[in-house]
Amino acid sequence: MTSPIRTERHDNVLVIISDNPPVNALGQKVRAGLVEGIEEALGDDGVEAVVIRCDGRTFFAGADITEFGKPPQGPSLPDALDRLEASDKPVVAAIHGTALGGGCEVALACHYRVAVPSAKLGLPEVKLGLIPGAAGTQRLPRLVGAEAALPLVAIGNPISASKAKDIGLLDEIVGEDSLAADAIAFARSKVGQPVPRASEGDANRDGVANPAIFDEFRARNGRKMRGFDAPNAAIDAVKAAGELSYAEGVKKERDLFGKLMTGTQSKAMRHYFFAERAANKIDDIPSDTPLIDVKKVGIIGAGTMGGGIAMNFLSAGIPVTILEMKQDALDRGTATMRRNYEATAKKGRMSADQVERAMSLLTPTLDYADLADCDLVIEAVYESMEVKKEVFGKLDAVVKEGAILASNTSYLDIDEIAAATKRPGYVLGLHFFSPANVMKLLEVVRGEKTRDDVLATAMKLSKTIGKVAAVSGVCPGFIGNRMLSKRQEQANRLILEGANYWDVDDVLLEFGFPMGPFQMGDLAGIDIGWHRDPSKVTTVREALCAVGRFGQKAGKGFYDYDEARQRTPSDEVKGIIADFAAKKGTEQRDISKDEIREGLLYPMVNEGAKILEEGMAQRASDIDVVWINGYGWPLYTGGPMFWADTIGLDAVVEGLERHGLSVSDHLRQKAGAGETFN
Ligand code: NAD
Repeated sequence: MTSPIRTERHDNVLVIISDNPPVNALGQKVRAGLVEGIEEALGDDGVEAVVIRCDGRTFFAGADITEFGKPPQGPSLPDALDRLEASDKPVVAAIHGTALGGGCEVALACHYRVAVPSAKLGLPEVKLGLIPGAAGTQRLPRLVGAEAALPLVAIGNPISASKAKDIGLLDEIVGEDSLAADAIAFARSKVGQPVPRASEGDANRDGVANPAIFDEFRARNGRKMRGFDAPNAAIDAVKAAGELSYAEGVKKERDLFGKLMTGTQSKAMRHYFFAERAANKIDDIPSDTPLIDVKKVGIIGAGTMGGGIAMNFLSAGIPVTILEMKQDALDRGTATMRRNYEATAKKGRMSADQVERAMSLLTPTLDYADLADCDLVIEAVYESMEVKKEVFGKLDAVVKEGAILASNTSYLDIDEIAAATKRPGYVLGLHFFSPANVMKLLEVVRGEKTRDDVLATAMKLSKTIGKVAAVSGVCPGFIGNRMLSKRQEQANRLILEGANYWDVDDVLLEFGFPMGPFQMGDLAGIDIGWHRDPSKVTTVREALCAVGRFGQKAGKGFYDYDEARQRTPSDEVKGIIADFAAKKGTEQRDISKDEIREGLLYPMVNEGAKILEEGMAQRASDIDVVWINGYGWPLYTGGPMFWADTIGLDAVVEGLERHGLSVSDHLRQKAGAGETFN
């Protein structure tokens, strides 16, 4: 077997080159080859300096994931890197592409780092619920300081070469097309000088001199990190780099890494990593299905969703024609889009030029004829079957043959909408989430007659506009809202039976959701869809509307709100709920948070099982993708179906039965067989 590592001699410099496509992953042979390369350099008196670089599209981009879960084969990456760093001849990392994870740790073990301007460096392990495990958390702060190391290790976003140079992670930025030669020249310039080792650096003293930086960092990023174990472990590891000797720090990193690796969160996040990729694949459609070229998009309705949906395409450089019934609605819609873009620009996430470029691709219209040459039209009008059928009939008549017609409906039957056209094969659901320019999820709803090329095009397009797509069959509410309805049903039942509504919200917050259902109701407005007749009270919401408790905008809804919009539970509301329960003859009792959690979440798992049984989702992990990206289900539990797997399906069945809730055949059967969903 040939080694992916070869060496080249350039006078007094030995160049160690990796050629391990596609991304120079740090598999066993690469690690062994690096050690052999460094031994060759040390054993040859003519060699005075070493360069490590990679062929192909990138420097080492990380660990070899095919080795995950297999017995480790030496040399380990930490051992290989210690051998590199111990060299008394200078070793230079020559970086192009992305030096990520283990790749960044290789660079840290070298004595010097040079890179091309387009290179990126980072330690993204935290995104898989881990921390670097080859001394990255110990070398980096000693090289660049704890303060600069914290975001790299605990947030995990890669940084550009120029940023890396600013913080001292890179020594030099070299020519984009002359990396190999420039790195050799750089190495030669260091011959004879004492080698600087990151493990011996003292930049980490900043965290000792001012230990407040750790708490400040936690406070600044608290929301992003809430509930996640790995970022906290990452902060602990960086802090330890200042408090402990290097050897002890490395041991601390090992301990933290080991705990995370065997813990549930990392398993869940690795599950999600693969789930997201799997969700974009449709099992029964050949991967070489020809796609429809989408060069121009039409949107019907410039309301909340239509405007947001349009922005996705404009931002991706795809022209959009947006249609409304009346000029004022059209003006309002386009003005909102511009305002949203300008707000993004104000936060520095877009330039003024980019705002103008995006808006210049937008054509507002009142005339259906202007949609004739669109390749895709997405309808986002009122949620009414009658209105949607009328719109699709009109579209079918004017839009060119072979164009895709999509509905953004939240609940309605796509097949019935498709039947209003003569091209049902070209009709599907594209269900965006609000705010549509921000939320990652796109539920792609496959109608009974939707053609393969239409579906495959939608999946590809989701990537073009930066969405995470999952396919759903046609059923009320599709995957996401269908399960949400079950949760809401249970939330309403629980408060009628005596659960505190704030406990219901808090249970979900503690579980890791950004918000509970009653907080959400207050935020959106309780009076949405209210019939405006205070004498007609058939639900708790109607009872609240009847006394003017419309939500946050009224200063009171389920909660009372102060000036700073802080919520406090309301005795009045508790009384309204109790009265309502009494009228319905529902007896109230004390309900624990445990019962609330099981009562809210287990029925969702049960509904997920039904969705699978009916073939409405292709795979359990697609349901996880939907709930993590569309509804704020905490990523670190892996999504509802993976979470159910980790607590055990028999426990879910037992809990449902204990609370007198229904259990689907599919769930019962899987639990009985000791199986899992994923
Ligand atoms: P909205 O009321 O904000 O916007 C609807 C717009 O459509 C209005 O501007 C209206 O003037 C226009 N319109 C109505 N009939 C029309 C017609 N015949 N021709 C042209 N324009 C017409 O509603 P929205 O919240 O944007 O919802 C639109 C669709 O998206 C609904 O089907 C809804 O279920 C779905 N949806 C909404 C959300 C959400 O959170 N708001 C999320 C996902 C999906």
